[in-house]
Amino acid sequence: MKYVMKFGGTSVKDAGYTRICDILSDYKNDKIVLVVSALKGVTDKLIEATRMAELGEEKWINDFLQEVRDVHRSVAKNSIGNLPSWLEERLDKADEELKHVLYGILYLREATPRSVDYVASFGERYSAEIASATLASRGFKSKAFTGGEAGIITNSRFGQATPLMALVRKRVAETILPLLENNFVPVVGGFAGATENGIITTLGRGGSDYSATILANAIDADEVIIWSDVNGIMSADPKLVPEAVTLPEITYEEAMEMAILGAKALHPRALEPVIEKKIPVRIKNTFDPKHDGTKIMETVTRPYHSVVKVISLIRDISMITIKGASMVGEVGMAARFFNKIAESKSNVMMISQSISESNISIVVKKENSKKVYDALEKEFGNEAKKLELEDDVCAIACVGEGMKGTPGVAARMFKAVADEGVNVRMIAQGSSELNISFVVKDTDGLKALKALHKEFIEKSFK
Ligand code: ASP
Ligand code: MG
Repeated sequence: MKYVMKFGGTSVKDAGYTRICDILSDYKNDKIVLVVSALKGVTDKLIEATRMAELGEEKWINDFLQEVRDVHRSVAKNSIGNLPSWLEERLDKADEELKHVLYGILYLREATPRSVDYVASFGERYSAEIASATLASRGFKSKAFTGGEAGIITNSRFGQATPLMALVRKRVAETILPLLENNFVPVVGGFAGATENGIITTLGRGGSDYSATILANAIDADEVIIWSDVNGIMSADPKLVPEAVTLPEITYEEAMEMAILGAKALHPRALEPVIEKKIPVRIKNTFDPKHDGTKIMETVTRPYHSVVKVISLIRDISMITIKGASMVGEVGMAARFFNKIAESKSNVMMISQSISESNISIVVKKENSKKVYDALEKEFGNEAKKLELEDDVCAIACVGEGMKGTPGVAARMFKAVADEGVNVRMIAQGSSELNISFVVKDTDGLKALKALHKEFIEKSFK
């Protein structure tokens, strides 16, 4: 089998990268491309460093550079023992480059998106070097690459770059495929790519998953395995609902819906490159590798007992409502409303308008709510319309393909919630019927989540 395996920052704890080697020993007869993320917290810190450099905080930057050095040296020592001199040199070179870029920002007092991407990419560069050296120390043939070196060529939308797949395939065929033929394990730093001219870009936060699936597409892998620290995708957050179960299989569509909802399991765009080639993606637990985890695929092979597969609680949101009889029949009202929100540079997460047309409600991130409200107030304040902002709400989303065309799902859903005495403030269902979301008071969120989990998941598995 040909695999692309991605290890997240949480997979690399005290034992360093040695655990990756242990896992790979179970795949001795397979061809493997490894993708690694930065160590936990490193990317956040790197991005913070660009801001501190912009502020001219030279001492902070120097302390930070020392810290980056120490953290990676220490993980490398835990993984390998005495570091071979070639690895020391490569790590020194990365340290030196990072210092130069940060000083560049410090002198200019300007962090452009392009320089932020360059700085942010270092976490994965260190990881790939250390992971590859660890493999080598354990007898694997291995070579480290940055995303750009491996052939992940992207457009120049810094911070949110998109791969240019035709070019990627061509480059990867030259860089990675020959190594696989010779039983090497190429280790590619995730998250970053490069433009055709070699300028470093990043694929968006959490982008190492995306790197893995881009490479899987390029090498025609049989499967992608995303190694994390949970046993796959679960029916609800087990920290909130202890009865949550692992889903053995889910479809690409369901997984995308969940990723967009912020289930940390997967980068929202990560499935695009594999859907086209129907390459399955498995989410497995680095610390429980025998557990099958969750397989994400085109169509599931086993029947699932419940129409709803996952229930998520989304916090830190706000609901904004505009109402007034003057809105009824006012052509262009919705366009004006959404234009103003767009101009405030805020994303709309949920939308609902009743057929009476006398009100529209939307949900935005709480951090943007004031901005959106003010923009709307400015536009509509002098008209006979009323604006309301509610900050003390949360949303609940039920996801599952089984809801499609199954009557009575919404009835069961709202009965379960009503039986708990919870009032529903707003409802939205996309016409894909894959997801029903609704808004309740923040204080009712957990109660509603548990009630729905009992109704749809726990009852179905009895
Ligand atoms: N290190 C990057 C981030 O923190 C990418 C990743 O972890 O997937 O966003
Ligand atoms: Mg991640």
